[in-house]
Amino acid sequence: MSIADNLYYFRQKLAPFPGARLLAVSKTKPAAMLAEAYEAGQRLFGENHVQEMVAKQAALPADAEWHLIGHLQTNKVRYIAPFVSLIHSVDSLKLLQEINKQGAKAGRVINCLLQIYIAQEETKFGLSEEEALAILQGPELAAMEHVCITGFMGMATNTGDMAQVRREFASLKRFFDQCVAQFSSPRIKLRELSMGMSSDYEIALEEGATLVRVGSAVFGGR
Ligand SMILES: *Cc1c(COP(=O)(O)O)cnc(C)c1O
Repeated sequence: MSIADNLYYFRQKLAPFPGARLLAVSKTKPAAMLAEAYEAGQRLFGENHVQEMVAKQAALPADAEWHLIGHLQTNKVRYIAPFVSLIHSVDSLKLLQEINKQGAKAGRVINCLLQIYIAQEETKFGLSEEEALAILQGPELAAMEHVCITGFMGMATNTGDMAQVRREFASLKRFFDQCVAQFSSPRIKLRELSMGMSSDYEIALEEGATLVRVGSAVFGGR
C-alpha cells in the first residue's frame, strides 16, 4: 500500500465523522514521504521533535500545518513559535507562559491543547483534571494574550484491552464536555479533542475525537 492509498483509506474511515480530521504523524520519516502525503492532499502533519519539525517545515509547501505532539522543552519553543499550528502537549503553566512569550515575539496567538493524563500507567507527562482546571481558571492564563487553549489531548493506556481504552477516551470526552460548558473566553475556545493513534483511532472517533494522530498506519512502521 502506498501512502496515497493509506490516506485514501483514512478518508473513508473519517467520512462518517465530519468533525474529525487526520493528523499524519510523520516523526522519523524523511521529508520525501511527507511530500508524497502532501501530493495526495494531506495538510496536517504531527512531529514530536522540534528540530525535525523545523527542517520539514522548511522542506514542505507553506500551506502544510505543523502540530507538535511530543513533550516540549521551554528552551525549544522559540524555534517553532513563528509557524506551529497547534501544540498538543502543553503539560505545565510554565510551558504555557513560555509559549505566550514566544507568541508575542512572533506576533501570533499560538493555539494549544492541554495534555491530560488518562492512562492507567506511569507516564512522565500530562496534567490531571484538577491541574488542567487550575490552569483554565487561573489568573495567569487570562493575562496571556498570545495563547489560546483550543482543547485537550490524551493518550490511552498501551493495552490490548479495548474496553479500557474506550473508558479512558470516554472519560476525557466527559471532562472536555464539562469544560466546554464551563469555559469560554478569548484565551479558551474549546473545540479540539486529540485522541487516538494507529492502534485505537476507531475507538477514539466513536468517543468524539476531532483529531486522530496516526503515524504507522499512514507511513508504515518506524
Ligand atoms: C508517535 C505518536 C503517535 C502516532 O503513533 P502511531 O502508533 O504510529 O500511530 C500519536 N501520538 C503521539 C503523542 C505520538 O508520539
